[in-house]
Amino acid sequence: MASYFDEHDCQPTGNNGPEPETLLNWARIIMANVREFAERYEGIPFPWELERKAPPASKKVVENLEEVMVESEGTKCPICLLPFETGENAKLLPCKHKFHCSCICPWLSQTNSCPVCRYELQTDDEKYEEYKKEKARKKQREDDLDALHNSMYS
Ligand SMILES: [Zn+2]
Ligand SMILES: [Zn+2]
Repeated sequence: MASYFDEHDCQPTGNNGPEPETLLNWARIIMANVREFAERYEGIPFPWELERKAPPASKKVVENLEEVMVESEGTKCPICLLPFETGENAKLLPCKHKFHCSCICPWLSQTNSCPVCRYELQTDDEKYEEYKKEKARKKQREDDLDALHNSMYS
């Protein structure tokens, strides 16, 4: 039976670890996968989240969130998964998802998006708002190109 060292074509001593080329290749593979993962889950802003986390929602926006009375029985808060009491007040996000204030308020002090659908609330972070606008512009350009393409080829 061949020894471990024969099989792996390396020497028992003087092995200095993987070649730099190999490491570089690994780095490329990892980066490509991170990008693919981020792009697959729409709503995850790439590369923003790699650089830094999305900022919290604007305090003003959170304070002014609409409060609604829960009428239908059995409606659950998506964060704690407990059903609302009938007649209980819930915080309504612009995306129409309802939460206990005690659940969504701490969440929005950490990040700016709805935990269910990732709808983004406004933040107080100018740079992030600028980034969001740029992202929307880019999306608009892509949509325009799609529309143009469709009108030409259909
Ligand atoms: Zn809750
Ligand atoms: Zn939502």
